[in-house]
Amino acid sequence: MECPYCSYHDSKVIDSRDVNDGIRRRRQCLNCGSRFTTYERLQPVGLFVIKKDERREEFNRNKLLTGIRKACEKRPLASGTVDKIADDIEAELYQSGRIEVPSAVIGDMVMERLKSLDQIAYIRFASVYREFTDITTLKEVVDALASGEAGVSHPSNQLPLISVEKLEELAKMDRHKVRTKAVKLEVK
Ligand SMILES: [Zn+2]
Repeated sequence: MECPYCSYHDSKVIDSRDVNDGIRRRRQCLNCGSRFTTYERLQPVGLFVIKKDERREEFNRNKLLTGIRKACEKRPLASGTVDKIADDIEAELYQSGRIEVPSAVIGDMVMERLKSLDQIAYIRFASVYREFTDITTLKEVVDALASGEAGVSHPSNQLPLISVEKLEELAKMDRHKVRTKAVKLEVK
């Protein structure tokens, strides 16, 4: 782990504790003495996102986080809310044991959570994710939200949400396939 300040290659751990699904380590650079924090978490391998154009790309938590964060910008949400949504979705995806998941499914998972959380964030996310090209589509979503319509409307090319029961079933089936790989490190 390189020091984020001077790029020196070695540091010592001065504190280490378990957090949620990982380990938080406080480190000190052996060269410049700066302190920084790393998080280690186990990550199952091989979850791929199927894009609209059928291309596959490895699931990227940061990408998911960025999308949610943009939608929630300047909204009155408790700190940590955005990370929590991303964590929940990531955990749900990995627990499902699926190897591939359509991007539309992930988008719907985000929308489902934002809907009950913050309507403006929901609309913002929908406008990017659904690629609204005109005001009519936007109005439809806003109207549906205003009228308290329960479901999110799905264009025919999108898959419905996976039910919790289905996810649990998949998780049981495929648990043995889930392996782990090297930890992911994040500097804060
Ligand atoms: Zn340093």
